[in-house]
Amino acid sequence: MLNFSFVNPTQIHFGQGQIACLSSNIPQDTKVLVVYGGGSIKKNGVYEQVCEALNGHSWGEFAGIEPNPSYQTCMQAVDMVKQNGYDFILAVGGGSVIDGCKFIAAAALFDGEPWDILGKGAEVKSALPLGVVLTLPATGSESNSFSVVSNKDTNDKLPFATPLVQPKFAVLDPDVMKTLPERQLANGVVDAFVHTMEQYLTYPVNAKVQDRFAEGLLLTLMEEGPKVFDKDVSYDVRANVMWSATMALNGLIGAGVPQDWGTHMIGHEITAVYGLDHAQTLAIVLPRLMEEQKETKREKILQYAQRVLGLDTTNPDEAIALAIKKTEMFFHDVKMPTRLSDYGLGEEVADKIVLQLERHGMTALGEHQAVTLEKSRQILIRSV
Ligand code: NAP
Ligand code: FE
Repeated sequence: MLNFSFVNPTQIHFGQGQIACLSSNIPQDTKVLVVYGGGSIKKNGVYEQVCEALNGHSWGEFAGIEPNPSYQTCMQAVDMVKQNGYDFILAVGGGSVIDGCKFIAAAALFDGEPWDILGKGAEVKSALPLGVVLTLPATGSESNSFSVVSNKDTNDKLPFATPLVQPKFAVLDPDVMKTLPERQLANGVVDAFVHTMEQYLTYPVNAKVQDRFAEGLLLTLMEEGPKVFDKDVSYDVRANVMWSATMALNGLIGAGVPQDWGTHMIGHEITAVYGLDHAQTLAIVLPRLMEEQKETKREKILQYAQRVLGLDTTNPDEAIALAIKKTEMFFHDVKMPTRLSDYGLGEEVADKIVLQLERHGMTALGEHQAVTLEKSRQILIRSV
């Protein structure tokens, strides 16, 4: 096992009716800016629950954080924070709203041009405190320190990370999933699955606890993921999917193990240029990246084949091919396409995305830095 330091300071309030506990989690003497997206929270009762819970607090609101939050929109919220003296941010939404709020929290106190946090990796020295009401289980952003923000003018979709923007608390009520459209349910299951794979499917370091946790998450997502599309599904199915998504990227399964993230880095570029949803890009790239890296990932693909998929591995090459195929079939089971051509895209994508990767210094991806630009090109050509 590799060395690691681990802490996850986000307090999770999980379960039905938990939005009510907001009032006791946000200090009374703060001025709260409630930030949300395109308005889904106004149609499903979440907004009313938040208003009720904030009764007695001083608060205002900023609406309109879009999917793949833009720097431009976030900066409007930063202006509002500065003009009105807000000192606590409450994100109510999915990964986009939460990531946008992390950037707002850091940019509001940043000395200089806030784009440099993303574009130049400028150090964040302070940030406003942040709380979350999660409405879409997918990204794990509700209890991690990562954020991804896009610049719509320049086709940049770039991450930053600092413990200073890790949410103080996150409210997870699985009932909010009832109003999620199929496309977003699929996105959530696939994103959580791929987060787990990026930290599991590398090379063995004898991290048995992390491996077993990761396998537990993959098995749960495979068992429960396809069920969430049924409107009458039980509370526990939704609860298990929601908790899997949080656990998939809260630092626990990634502690002390090598990590890949190649699928995410290539996927971010596809979103930046062609506008596909985040998880749509992951379902396209992951199976092809597994094929491209099947030798360097050999032992872990076989472990995955045996322990997660229950495959016979006496013929290892056949088992690896079948494991990749079954992974793709699982994506289809959760209504997720796995080809660029499903979105009307072809081989032209490869050159365009390779240029983007080069521009962002993503020239050696993966746990061995073995995915060169040429290999990324091959992965993309095979993804058509
Ligand atoms: P999202 O972009 O936050 O939301 C997608 C859509 O779902 C929005 O249109 C939203 O509508 C709608 N929605 C959310 N909750 C809903 C509900 N309960 N009922 C009905 N509609 C609802 O989706 P996401 O997959 O959670 O986030 C994707 C972003 O997170 C990407 O930018 C991705 O790169 C990033 N990401 C971050 C991390 C991380 O660790 N920070 C990891 C992976 C991905 P409204 O806008 O109207 O609410
Ligand atoms: Fe992701």
